Amino acid sequence: MPDITKKYTNGEVTIVWKPAVCIHSTICWKAATDLPQVFNPFIKPWIKAETATTEKLIEQIKKCPSGALSFYINNEMVNGQL
Ligand code: SF4
Repeated sequence: MPDITKKYTNGEVTIVWKPAVCIHSTICWKAATDLPQVFNPFIKPWIKAETATTEKLIEQIKKCPSGALSFYINNEMVNGQL
């Protein structure tokens, strides 16, 4: 699979998804009973980051067992620079 990286943001946090790394555990959508509006692989885009708070998104991303989902906070300092 090509090395594709997709990004989805709610303006505050950006979710990074690497499909080649995803092991299809379904944890992010089947187990995310409180975030069905965010993760839905049956519609496009499959992640709607703008429909949840940053805290809830990060909580769910941390449960991804493969590392396919990661995140960064928008406008966060990188190497001491904005
Ligand atoms: S939790 Fe991670 S590994 Fe599992 S389906 Fe979602 S993105 Fe893929």
